Amino acid sequence: MTFARCRRLAFFFVLPLAFLATHLCAVQPSPAQAPSAQAQPAPAPSVSSPSAAPVATAPANPQQAYTLPPDKLAKAVALSRIRNILDISGSLWGLAFLWLLLATHAAAGLANWAERLLRRRWLQGLLFFAAFLLITSLASLPFDIIGHHYSQSYGISVQSWGSWAGDQSKALGLSLLIGTPVLLLFNWIVRRWPRRYWLGLWLATLPLLVLTIFVSPLLEPIFNKFEPLTKSNPALVTELEQVVARTGTNIPPDRMFLMKASLKTNGLNAYVSGIGATKRIVVWDTTAGRIPDDEILFIFGHESGHYVLHHIPQILAGTALALFFVFWAAAGFAGWLARRFGSRWELGELGNGTPLASRSGFVVLLFTISVVSFLLTPASNTFSRHFEHQADVYGQEAVHGIVADPQKTAVAAFNALGNAWLEDPNPSPFIEFWEYNHPSVKTRANFALHYDPWANGGHGQFFSK
Ligand SMILES: [Zn+2]
Repeated sequence: MTFARCRRLAFFFVLPLAFLATHLCAVQPSPAQAPSAQAQPAPAPSVSSPSAAPVATAPANPQQAYTLPPDKLAKAVALSRIRNILDISGSLWGLAFLWLLLATHAAAGLANWAERLLRRRWLQGLLFFAAFLLITSLASLPFDIIGHHYSQSYGISVQSWGSWAGDQSKALGLSLLIGTPVLLLFNWIVRRWPRRYWLGLWLATLPLLVLTIFVSPLLEPIFNKFEPLTKSNPALVTELEQVVARTGTNIPPDRMFLMKASLKTNGLNAYVSGIGATKRIVVWDTTAGRIPDDEILFIFGHESGHYVLHHIPQILAGTALALFFVFWAAAGFAGWLARRFGSRWELGELGNGTPLASRSGFVVLLFTISVVSFLLTPASNTFSRHFEHQADVYGQEAVHGIVADPQKTAVAAFNALGNAWLEDPNPSPFIEFWEYNHPSVKTRANFALHYDPWANGGHGQFFSK
């Protein structure tokens, strides 16, 4: 639940890393995007002082509230094309790669190798899944490298290759540390309950989901530096407290953090993360101090909306519901594949009636989960866009009476956002439908420009005045 659109991994929907990776997308400002666990796009806002106005705040065309100067427009269009190609080809390559692991018997070979090397079954499993995660990460690496290259060359990322490689290694380390035992557990569930295993997988995933959200703020400092927002921006915190008072969010200043994103990116962003004792609001240092405070108040209002409107529990519930379907459908599809290709792929049997319980058989299941998740991408993004739009409405209402003109402030914030990430002002509707987890900047800015519930003495959806 970020302010900027997050380009999340497409490659691996393999659970549960996907949850983690999706989340890290909020905190890893490595850029132009490709299919792995990282994040987002875009170049320096042309403003460096809080009082400077960010680019086009008064668009000439009243129909288009988000505009870019001609040189940036050309770049934004070119970069969007690159990102879209990388996103979609990366997803498809991810699926094709899993299929290749099966069809070339590489998965079966890897399982045999682990069995020859180690005696204990669970150790064989750990070795197999660690090797599997390593291989699939390497397979997506070219897409990550191309993504980082373009992000740098378009002036969005300022992260050196060395630092970038460090982040990649850390992300891989985390995947291995967390993903390996989880995959082993899932594999065990399939073996233990060969008929209804998909229900077991679903049940096991639910606490993992909650745990991931709870723990993620504690993992964030592995990738980025954080400090209390009051340390660098005390005046801003005082202003933010006005929004806190109006929204009743009860977010004390010690739950507000500044993330040192400027070491890696020129993009701007803010996000909420964690639940219960770990929940917090984070503002990137590329945002606080670089765009006018009023706009940060609006962004903060948007993030507060995610809290007040209970988006985290709703998204959790929606994800849980979707996963029920994902596991059920993936199990049916995997069963069919195993009957059709099982002997050709040398999946082996464990005597409990399902070849899916073997190590390589489990890869079939990971493949089908990936396929079903890929097909559900537009559904989950539509769900996400709904929440983001609601947060935009909330943000604009939250700053009413605090900033002089909420409409103008929101439009200016979206222009700063679009400029910073080089967002395409006219994305194709299909791309927006399939890939965007936030409405396009164009859609958001146009809505903000026309949203004025206070005209004629009215009030907004979420506040009585
Ligand atoms: Zn948001």
